[in-house]
Amino acid sequence: MTGALLNSTELQLKPMTDPFGRTISYLRVSVTDRCDLRCFYCMSEDMTFLPKADLLTLEELDRLCSAFIAKGVRKLRLTGGEPLVRRNVMSLVRSLSRHLGTAALDELTLTTNGSQLARFAGELRGYGVRRVNVSLDTLDPAKFRAITRWGDLDKVLAGIEAARSAGLAVKINAVALKNTNDEEIPSLMEWAHGKGMALTLIEVMPMGDIGEGRIDQYAPLSLLRARLAQQYTLTDLDDDTGGPARYVRVSETGGKLGFITPMTHNFCESCNRVRITCTGTLHTCLGHEDASDLRKPLRASADDGLLGAAIDRAIGLKPKGHDFIIDRRHNRPSVSRHMSVTGG
Ligand code: SAM
Ligand code: SF4
Repeated sequence: MTGALLNSTELQLKPMTDPFGRTISYLRVSVTDRCDLRCFYCMSEDMTFLPKADLLTLEELDRLCSAFIAKGVRKLRLTGGEPLVRRNVMSLVRSLSRHLGTAALDELTLTTNGSQLARFAGELRGYGVRRVNVSLDTLDPAKFRAITRWGDLDKVLAGIEAARSAGLAVKINAVALKNTNDEEIPSLMEWAHGKGMALTLIEVMPMGDIGEGRIDQYAPLSLLRARLAQQYTLTDLDDDTGGPARYVRVSETGGKLGFITPMTHNFCESCNRVRITCTGTLHTCLGHEDASDLRKPLRASADDGLLGAAIDRAIGLKPKGHDFIIDRRHNRPSVSRHMSVTGG
């Protein structure tokens, strides 16, 4: 796949700013809604996937990402579903890496479940990827199989080692799950920090109908943090990336621990990101039903004029913040789309 380089006029375009003065510089792109695992908090076991014909082609994804880069996006994260199960995804990575070469883009990265990393780590590094986030909720093989419904922990651990050997920095993401892995968080953290990897804990978000209520899964991180603070010395770090994570340094391990707390801490005021799905729908907020179709303007013309106007319109409507709620009265998804469609 080859794509056009951005010219200097395009690079001088005004950065995208939403109605609340937030500059949009970070794009997350779901390249597929499919996955080789079925994590119980993310998908139902008999998940119905989108017809392949609805998906943007890799060329279209490249054009869409490049249009955002021309409008000031500096950081691009590929996600899914599982990005590494999309056929030929490496041609998209290779093609997008040209924007690293021209310095139009600061970072190209991805979030993966790690199952295919052993195969792709070297190539990713070769195309300029420097960091990957790997989602891993437990180090117990049986628990891993139960959470993912059929995943093989050894494959993920091999993927992480391959990434590290290839020179990729790895950050581990774990969803905190009540009565499932909440007790294991200290050992997961010690393992990650022992290998020089940061660990970020995520609160389960009420996204998509997964055939069971959320109240049974939800482990508030405020509680987990308080428990960790009895055992470890946690010092707040102020490396604010504009993202939802708040980090601490753990004195005993020397490592970094992050908390993503959409349910207990509102992170919207500094939100610099938007998301596109594999069908070309733009979501300017993870916690709202807002959606703008970019596939239509993308396909309507080979020129990016219509597409650029549609992006501007959507950014002009970015909501101020999300409204997730999990409690006994609201034990149902507050946003009907699954995380695997939006791209977590
Ligand atoms: N398959 C890849 C992976 O697992 O890393 C990328 C996509 S996955 C949807 C991205 C992240 O979203 C993962 O870290 C996953 O644990 C998280 N996630 C999925 N469903 C979630 C939910 N309902 N609440 C919070 N995090 C969720
Ligand atoms: Fe797949 Fe990632 Fe969702 Fe798990 S969290 S089912 S690995 S998309």
